[in-house]
Amino acid sequence: MAVIVDGKEVAKKTREGLKKDVEELKQKGITPKLTVIMVGDNQASKVYIKQKSKACNDVGVEYEEYFLGTETTQKELLDLIDKLNHDKSVNGILLQSPLPAHLDINEAFRAIDYRKDVDGFHPMNVGKLVLGQDTFVSCTPYGIMRLFEEYKIDLCGKNVVIIGRSNIVGKPLVQCCLNNNATVTVCHSKTKDVKEVAKNADVVVVAIGKPNFVKSDMIKENAVVIDVGINRLDTGKLVGDVDFETVSKKASYITPVPGGVGPMTVAMLMNNVVKAAKQQNK
Ligand code: NAP
Repeated sequence: MAVIVDGKEVAKKTREGLKKDVEELKQKGITPKLTVIMVGDNQASKVYIKQKSKACNDVGVEYEEYFLGTETTQKELLDLIDKLNHDKSVNGILLQSPLPAHLDINEAFRAIDYRKDVDGFHPMNVGKLVLGQDTFVSCTPYGIMRLFEEYKIDLCGKNVVIIGRSNIVGKPLVQCCLNNNATVTVCHSKTKDVKEVAKNADVVVVAIGKPNFVKSDMIKENAVVIDVGINRLDTGKLVGDVDFETVSKKASYITPVPGGVGPMTVAMLMNNVVKAAKQQNK
């Protein structure tokens, strides 16, 4: 039976550490501040934003949000980003995706000052990650790396298979794993035989958004299995991309959904905001 990787607990521990950092900053007259921009009325986004505001409150980070209407123009969005870029009290700017279809999200991400890009989506920060330089790492991959560290799962020389190549999870995670000396293979929707590839992995990370996609016959005995997926079934139940019941009997470590990677994503966002505040006040 696999060790259940307790993301909730590691996230709590991470936040406790950050609280101390925030206290120290406050003694110097600095209060880290995160500003979140949401455009439109996406219900899932509202839930995510609430989690972020709660985490800020918990850690002692000042939180501010802008809810813009669905009809917002690209210029209005860019003007707001520009205003926040120049506002010295704002340390981190987070643009919640998705945006309404008429808006260019890539241009908007590029417009955020990379020094305030606590999501790690700006091309400058992505490039620095690729070059192995200190940067803001995208929060979900960063959270996964933090889980590996906490559970002393050493990636050096390991075969890591990442299923899913999104810009926010799969691709940055490739770099994080490479930077930790893993041998990395990426699968996506055009991969011929995902099962064959995944069976050779010491570590499997799945981030595709397909309930119970990874079954026990897709992993080798004692593999580490990280489930990033968040899927709501018709019954209302929340499940990941991994068939937890069967895979947990074969894996050595496994993340549950909920309570695995999810809480780490928010904790690492807090980490990035505190880091931004420190850097901007050097
Ligand atoms: P995404 O942008 O939806 O992309 C999905 C990826 O999965 C794509 O690269 C796609 O391949 C690949 N894919 C789809 N079907 C596949 C298949 N049958 N076999 C192999 N690859 C397949 O992904 P995302 O935004 O990273 O989200 C993925 C999941 O993670 C979602 O459930 C999301 O809710 C969850 N998520 C969770 C967190 C968290 O904090 N826990 C954070 C972010 C996302 P192509 O590139 O070829 O299309």
